[in-house]
Amino acid sequence: MKAIQSIRGMHDILPESVHVWQFLEARLRMLLGSYGYREIRLPAVEFTELFARSIGDVTDIVEKEMYTFEDRNGDRLSLRPEGTAGCVRAGIEHGLLHNQVQRLWYQGPMFRHERPQKGRYRQFHQVGMEVFGVPGPDVDAELLAFTARLWKLIGLRDLRLEINTLGTPGSRERYRERLIAYFEAHRDGLDAEAARRLHENPLRLLDSKHPETAAIARSAPTLLEDLDAESRAHFDTLCAHLDAMGIVYTHNPRLVRGLDYYTHTVFEWITEELGAQGTVCAGGRYDGLVQQLGGRATPAIGLAMGLERLVALLVEQDAVAPPDGPDVYLVVPGETDARAQVLAEQLRDELPGLHLVMNCGGGSMKAQMKKADRTGARYAVILGPDEMATGTVVVKTLRDDEGGQLTVAQHDLAALMHARLKR
Ligand code: ATP
Ligand code: MG
Repeated sequence: MKAIQSIRGMHDILPESVHVWQFLEARLRMLLGSYGYREIRLPAVEFTELFARSIGDVTDIVEKEMYTFEDRNGDRLSLRPEGTAGCVRAGIEHGLLHNQVQRLWYQGPMFRHERPQKGRYRQFHQVGMEVFGVPGPDVDAELLAFTARLWKLIGLRDLRLEINTLGTPGSRERYRERLIAYFEAHRDGLDAEAARRLHENPLRLLDSKHPETAAIARSAPTLLEDLDAESRAHFDTLCAHLDAMGIVYTHNPRLVRGLDYYTHTVFEWITEELGAQGTVCAGGRYDGLVQQLGGRATPAIGLAMGLERLVALLVEQDAVAPPDGPDVYLVVPGETDARAQVLAEQLRDELPGLHLVMNCGGGSMKAQMKKADRTGARYAVILGPDEMATGTVVVKTLRDDEGGQLTVAQHDLAALMHARLKR
């Protein structure tokens, strides 16, 4: 019978690479806590309408990327393609947003039916951050300072920050009209999808991955001329705060984000080292979304990081050391004797956190020593028939730089290991 395989674009993360994920997740969690962010855990499935109303009907995600289905009750549900909509939904539902400042973060798998390629999957993982109740631009700058610090903390180099402003809904509306006029004038060069979206969502064309449309978009007018005084002040203050903190950025007036709900600040962190899928973190301000989803008007800003891309970059830049092997591999030649298991548990009692792997399943001394070596263990502790008879063990160093072996009484083993391992 043919073996069942994983679904295209959905990947297993194998033990060999999981340490890179854990390295990233542990540091993220630590830094998030230190900036006052609290974790929120959200369902992976929501009503389809939530995404249609927040991300926007005329977007790639809602039009063609969502995993949408009817459940047994006939409800239309979707696997979440991103986390902001669910976070806002939860915030409104539980009264977390009104008249208070919330710094929230979440983590988990997201689902988009895209064409799988390097750095682009159908199930991928994000860490998202959302701040509610602060109009900025101070918190916008803080969010960017957080990300800059994160890259330093995890040892990533050569990430570039691009920022832009989409202005207030008013300035965006004026820009929209001007963009429609521009693209209308170049209609013949647009791909069919772009031509279709032109009137509903012209900003999306700026983000097009279609070569001819993208070429036209490169000469499109920017929003700068349409910015009102409020938008300009917001953006100038953000830039001043970034300058003061020494955070390097470029202003890319063509940067727009794929989702409909952004206003004012938008940004992306980009690397050149992962090919076409170079954006590792992206976000922006979405002051209108809470109200749009039925809550009271609440300013908000957020971002999402793509963990697969960050992990790939950590690997590419060789930023994470391989994990250590066990401290001790317990070798029990022949059949496993109950006394060996008692010894292992005693050691675990006396040295909490000791990384000890016991040989289970029997085997010759030679075979077990080979296994010990393969785990990368620092010491082999050998408990053969002679040692059992005399209440001793043999401690053998498996690393060249420490050399040698010695026999010690079993009741002295924990103290010896404590001294050797400096626990
Ligand atoms: P892209 O332009 O690469 O499609 P996006 O604008 O659709 O990205 P967002 O919705 O802003 O992406 O998601 C935030 C981050 O999540 C991205 O910057 C990226 O790092 C990651 N991401 C998005 N889609 C995928 C995917 N299909 N596979 C892996 N990571 C992804
Ligand atoms: Mg996308």
